[in-house]
Amino acid sequence: MARGKKIYEGKAKILFEGPEPGTIVQYFKDDATAFNAEKKDVIDGKGVLNNRLSEYFMTGLNQIGVPTHFLKRLNMREQLVRSCEIIPLEVIVRNFAAGSFSKRMGVEEGTQLPRPIVEYSYKDDALGDPLVPEEYIAAFGWASQQDMDDVLGLALRVNDFLSGVMYGVGIKLIDFKIEIGRVYEGDFQRLVVADEISPDSCRLWDIETGQKLDKDVFRRDLGNLTDAYTEVARRLNVLPKGTGPKPTLVN
Ligand code: 5GP
Repeated sequence: MARGKKIYEGKAKILFEGPEPGTIVQYFKDDATAFNAEKKDVIDGKGVLNNRLSEYFMTGLNQIGVPTHFLKRLNMREQLVRSCEIIPLEVIVRNFAAGSFSKRMGVEEGTQLPRPIVEYSYKDDALGDPLVPEEYIAAFGWASQQDMDDVLGLALRVNDFLSGVMYGVGIKLIDFKIEIGRVYEGDFQRLVVADEISPDSCRLWDIETGQKLDKDVFRRDLGNLTDAYTEVARRLNVLPKGTGPKPTLVN
């Protein structure tokens, strides 16, 4: 499918105009960044795996009635999505302490939280995506109270779905980040899960061994990132067909 002109290039993806109005082609790059892009590398095959994994999660969410921007996967690195207006927040759901939460609260990584905790960061690289209270979100008009009620509902439904899917393949969902977009249908707007859901934006630990199968492998130099993501894809049975234990990587 012919893609249109480039709209935006981020750290891990490029967005192009889609074939129809209201659509976008989302291209998954192999670039990995951490610590606000202070650490960078190109990880062979990461984009191919994240394209497949995000397709798998978004398709499942669409099927259980959690709306997402995902329309279809086009090829190894591209998917067609609905264009939406992204709310400038990272919506983070935590089931177990880890990462910035553990640091901020002095809680050991892996400690189960009394209930899922949902928190919001303001998407701004220059500021390092600071954690913000809902008061800021309302005061600066990033989202209304009604929107935030819907965002919370979506975040918790995504959490239940992802936790269950991962549990089924022996993986604990520690935490994750999603982004929410607005799509307009005539006079109505509705909120959808946008961006991507992949091991770049989740913490995934093997239930038995505690082995990390997510981007912390890159952030903390714990081994080969492609191997970790391939393991997640293998367990979920979403590796491209006809390949061995590793996917055939085609640009
Ligand atoms: P933390 O706040 O502990 O660093 O991250 C919490 C969760 O959100 C982790 O699963 C992490 O991967 C995800 N996350 C937080 N910020 C970002 C971000 O800027 N990009 C991506 N891809 N994931 C993020």
